[in-house]
Amino acid sequence: MSAPVDYNELRDPVSDLCRRYPDEYWRRTDRERLYPEEFVHALTEAGWLAALIPERYGGAGLGITEASVILEQINRCGGNAAACHAQMYTMGTVLRHGSEQQKQRYLPGIASGELRLQAFAVTEPSAGTDTTKIRTTAVRSGERYIVNGQKVWTSRVQHSDLMLLFARTTPMDQVAKKTEGLSVFLVDLRQAVGDGLTVIPIDTMINHETNELYFDDLEIPGDSLIGEEGRGFRYLLDGLNAERILIAAECVGDGDWFVERAAGYARERVVFDRPIGQNQGIQFPLARAYAHLRAADLMRYRAAEMFDGGVACGAEANMAKLLAADASWEAANAALQTHGGYGFASEYDVERKFRETRLFQVAPISTNLILSYIAEHILGLPRSF
Ligand SMILES: Cc1cc2nc3c(=O)[nH]c(=O)nc-3n(C[C@H](O)[C@H](O)[C@H](O)COP(=O)(O)OP(=O)(O)OC[C@H]3O[C@@H](n4cnc5c(N)ncnc54)[C@H](O)[C@@H]3O)c2cc1C
Repeated sequence: MSAPVDYNELRDPVSDLCRRYPDEYWRRTDRERLYPEEFVHALTEAGWLAALIPERYGGAGLGITEASVILEQINRCGGNAAACHAQMYTMGTVLRHGSEQQKQRYLPGIASGELRLQAFAVTEPSAGTDTTKIRTTAVRSGERYIVNGQKVWTSRVQHSDLMLLFARTTPMDQVAKKTEGLSVFLVDLRQAVGDGLTVIPIDTMINHETNELYFDDLEIPGDSLIGEEGRGFRYLLDGLNAERILIAAECVGDGDWFVERAAGYARERVVFDRPIGQNQGIQFPLARAYAHLRAADLMRYRAAEMFDGGVACGAEANMAKLLAADASWEAANAALQTHGGYGFASEYDVERKFRETRLFQVAPISTNLILSYIAEHILGLPRSF
């Protein structure tokens, strides 16, 4: 297996762009809870968010490996790719399962930045991780579907033109398997919000635009349906490996940021007449976190290589996400400890990144659910739920 580690032809220009949005920018957007509009705009203008869109639809036609390097580099430079990463994997659902007409209609606009597809509404308050129990329904009525229900944690809706919606089209008691009867729709938010869809923002510990959604007889055109009615769960699963790999890369980027910052601080900060980094009590947690990051990174590249080669990579993508999220969290803790009291001061940015990288233990998939996947699907143990 080859483990590419440089990709400097991508890293260098992404880093150059990120330098225009330095720590103060992210600190201010975090403090004022602002969407990093200028940064996302610049990233879109430069074509980076269209990395995965095929060239025939105006994108760069790159693989998941390259896309993951782009997101990793944003986080390594101190930014937060979560403001815009979803476009990369939500677009994949349209690309893989949408009709040619839908692709022609939406992908060029998404590639150029004219249309933003940043939102994906799956999670619901009552169903939680048990996705097949969602209660949002889309019922056919002539040429349209009528949507009713509620979603929670739907991110970036206020900065998106289009949203993928996961809804039940056949009631659970009328399908043979609970994974049947679920469908995916592409909803035009510009028409829906205020006309059947109400968006209520949620305040969170990080600067992440996320919302509760209420659907009250929202009417959407019949051609909003992606693929076949009732097969949405399969489409959802298809997109998960890409999501896991991209998030793993962001975690690696975060982790490297923490280790680099902490090592730099430990070299400079003098206490007891010597740099704190001379103490093994400071060195070892950083060295251990670094080793774990490199191991997670290998798994991320392995999963990406398999994904790009068209090989089933569910196990590798899940393990990459698990290992990378754990490694970035370990690095975050080590960096905070290295900074002592200053780790809590906003001006050092450690506390902001600390909060941001903590999310990856929970979303988009919690660590427990990945462990359950490994136990059941790789170790052959009985399903626990
Ligand atoms: C900032 C943020 C942004 C998000 N953005 C989006 C988005 O854009 N779109 C979207 O659809 N969702 C989004 N989510 C939702 C996210 O994917 C869910 O929060 C996550 O999947 C967990 O679901 P839950 O919060 O309902 O937790 P629950 O399902 O209630 O689980 C709570 C805890 O119990 C554990 N648990 C549950 N069942 C089991 C079990 N059988 N075995 C072991 N442990 C178990 C879980 O691992 C978790 O730690 C976002 C969440 C956050 C916090």
